[in-house]
Amino acid sequence: MSVLVIGSVALDSVKTPFGEVEEALGGSATYASASASFFDTVNLVAVVGEDFGEKNIQPLSGFEIDLSGLVRSPGKTFRWKGYYTYNLNEAITTETCLNVFADFNPILSDEHKKASHVFLANIDPELQLKVLEQIEKPEIILLDTMNFWIENKKDALIETIKKVNILVLNDAEARELVGEANLIKAAGKIREMGPDRVIIKKGEHGALMFSKSGIFSAPAYPLENIFDPTGAGDTFAGGLIGYLSDVHGKSEEDFRRGVIFGSAMASFVVEKFSLDRLKILTWEEVRDRYCQFKALTHFE
Ligand code: AMP
Repeated sequence: MSVLVIGSVALDSVKTPFGEVEEALGGSATYASASASFFDTVNLVAVVGEDFGEKNIQPLSGFEIDLSGLVRSPGKTFRWKGYYTYNLNEAITTETCLNVFADFNPILSDEHKKASHVFLANIDPELQLKVLEQIEKPEIILLDTMNFWIENKKDALIETIKKVNILVLNDAEARELVGEANLIKAAGKIREMGPDRVIIKKGEHGALMFSKSGIFSAPAYPLENIFDPTGAGDTFAGGLIGYLSDVHGKSEEDFRRGVIFGSAMASFVVEKFSLDRLKILTWEEVRDRYCQFKALTHFE
């Protein structure tokens, strides 16, 4: 099987208390694809502008990602600017320039239409819907979003949510989406909208997965050095969908293992800027961290 990822490919300018980077490769589809590629083959669908050169794409070259769905359009590449204070759980956005994404009309190839596992990474929900409509027989569709779209395209987002199996979002977004402060009640309301599962990320406090089987609580890996949290959510989702695709997973246990693999991947990406940590990450390190997650919560 293989994973189809649609989302943003971006040039990110990010400042954290530990450093700063200008126009580094980022974007939801970038992080998610790199992460999923540790588990299965990945097809990326996104758009970049004419200003996106060889040096911008270079960080993706070490990963096994089919880039035939990465379209180049007249105009400028999507740009995101943000910063973090010592509260690394919250990115403060200072600029979002959609640029070529404003007119993007994703047309899937015949091969991409056959995808079984699809990650609709954070992007305009109208684009997510357009992709969804072209997939012939999806098995699992995982959707991500953020406050920007909850505030600007809520109707399209709700239409998209109705059609997916799993929604992943952070705690503040879950509360904002359904106007409910309590996360258990918020997850219940979101599941009533359509998805079988809702995964609520709580940054350095881990993630909660809600389904008819109950609640699964995954810790976050206790890291001493978090350098830049950008992309942690996308990397988490990429690891989850990549794992599910690889093992053809459908059971509760498969989803739980997928959440832990996703958490393990996210715990690496935050150690450096952009894809710098994933670029040198080995499968042995991923495996080891997965086992450390088990040890973290084991008790008799
Ligand atoms: P996260 O995993 O939530 O930290 O996602 C970070 C990535 O999301 C960055 O690399 C940004 O380029 C990208 N991003 C930020 N805002 C948006 C947006 N409105 N639509 C799509 N992607 C975005």
